[in-house]
Amino acid sequence: MSHIFAIANQKGGVGKTTTSVNLAASLARMNKKVLLVDVDPQGNATMGSGIEKNDLQSSVYDLLVEQTPLLQITVKSPDAGFDLLPANGDLTAAEVELLDKDGREHRLRDSLSQASTPYDYILIDCPPSLNMLTINALVAADGVLIPMQCEYYALEGLSALSQTVQAVSGSLNPTLKIEGILRTMYDPRNKLSQEVSDQLIDHFGETVYRTIVPRNVRLAEAPSFGLPVIVYDKTSRGALAYIALAGEILRRHSVEDNAAEDTGNSPQTSTGAAHNQYDNEFDQDPGLGNS
Ligand code: ATP
Ligand code: MG
Repeated sequence: MSHIFAIANQKGGVGKTTTSVNLAASLARMNKKVLLVDVDPQGNATMGSGIEKNDLQSSVYDLLVEQTPLLQITVKSPDAGFDLLPANGDLTAAEVELLDKDGREHRLRDSLSQASTPYDYILIDCPPSLNMLTINALVAADGVLIPMQCEYYALEGLSALSQTVQAVSGSLNPTLKIEGILRTMYDPRNKLSQEVSDQLIDHFGETVYRTIVPRNVRLAEAPSFGLPVIVYDKTSRGALAYIALAGEILRRHSVEDNAAEDTGNSPQTSTGAAHNQYDNEFDQDPGLGNS
């Protein structure tokens, strides 16, 4: 069964696309079959995956509005090892055109359920708003991964998003949950970042990933080459952070799967699970460097 995550935060520029592309590439590097879905008309995840958004034959627009089969839209990221449903500015029209269509909130979910490839992970990169495209992502997903910067207004934004998740789970998608909260562009020298991070953990406990993504210039450079950072500079702190995040997510799910199989052993929590070298590095020092 696929794990389907909407990577969402209505606040702009918090690292949604960076997380989508780099988590997809890191999971693919760990031999998982991954599909990345770009539902943002900005098409940043498409470009960051090495696909030119202005040359698309078809896109998520066709999937949502024309109900074109998934296979006709799927492309392969040339260097990153995952499949992509690409998007561009055409998708702006979909927001309006969907309004008078049948099953407008379910169209992405219906399309993904037709996927003939057994994907382990499907990641959906959302736009910075709570519009019909984001609703489609939240209806299709089983979990929401929320990237956030640890700054003053971040917690306020998080409560708005939590309310939306609750509203969607109360009506359109009863099994939707917050999968995890990811601290991005983290600067440990900044006292406010530390305070907000502490408050996050007080409120959300283990929902907050242990992995912290540091501010790292390689992460910002990689998209201009159409590459995930693990291909662009695999030894950079940004690359190590996203590899660590992929490892943390895989461990969480293997713990859940083991618990579901009811082996008779008490399930480990994600914080109790064994950590790899990357986790340990980030436990000590979330990173300040440029590489
Ligand atoms: P939008 O809301 O516009 O879709 P977003 O939430 O998808 O934005 P990104 O596009 O991933 O955010 O990131 C915003 C900018 O910050 C980009 O220029 C990106 O390269 C840069 N960036 C993201 N994460 C990091 C990081 N950890 N270190 C340095 N720069 C980063
Ligand atoms: Mg984005």
